[in-house]
Amino acid sequence: MDLQYLWQGRELKLRILRNAKKNIILRKIDSGSLKISVPKYLSVKRLLNWLDSHQDVIARVLQTPDLSEPKTEMLPEKIWFRGQLQTIKITSQNQFCYENEIFYVPHLPFLQQQQVLRTFLQNHAQTVLLNKLAEHANKMNLSPSQITLTNAKTFWGVCRQKTGIRLNWRLIGAPDFVMDYVCIHELCHLWHANHSKAFWQSVAVYCDDVARAKTWLKKHGTALFLLG
Ligand SMILES: [Zn+2]
Repeated sequence: MDLQYLWQGRELKLRILRNAKKNIILRKIDSGSLKISVPKYLSVKRLLNWLDSHQDVIARVLQTPDLSEPKTEMLPEKIWFRGQLQTIKITSQNQFCYENEIFYVPHLPFLQQQQVLRTFLQNHAQTVLLNKLAEHANKMNLSPSQITLTNAKTFWGVCRQKTGIRLNWRLIGAPDFVMDYVCIHELCHLWHANHSKAFWQSVAVYCDDVARAKTWLKKHGTALFLLG
């Protein structure tokens, strides 16, 4: 359902999706339209009331990048790899290589360059990250039903009894203590399917760096998404 909403003297187009569990979630489509996820039974009137009293939220969402536009058309100058910021250089050679902490990327259209780097990082995540997860599982005497990587944009890891553990491949950009923390965090969810006090106590038994890892992710987490 689409709605027009007058916001600071201009018409905003609202695309309403009734797919949220309990919160109202706004996303920007472009400077004149927003996507809004609302709970199934929220009336339009209550939604409009909510919008009227959350003008600051609308303003903030309108400042975010457009959903429809790619964030950048150029590779970043540096990217994180295993906890170090590494330089990206465009090379006239037609082969990609990683040498002396430099990523040499051939002259190619942007999307292909991005793909070359993503493939390199995903391959490393496949070995490094999933091996770590297996090692920690072993130490903790746990055997998740499956361990895989995910391309999710909204979480670092997810754990379900039935489907096992999926880790975001972008964590390969983070230092070891961060990867270890996320592995242990997800494994502990096999014991506690929540973030209760007991859950965090279990995490602390196996991980000394919880606070440090969380701080690192808060500070650098978005930079791990520079390649989309
Ligand atoms: Zn969790």
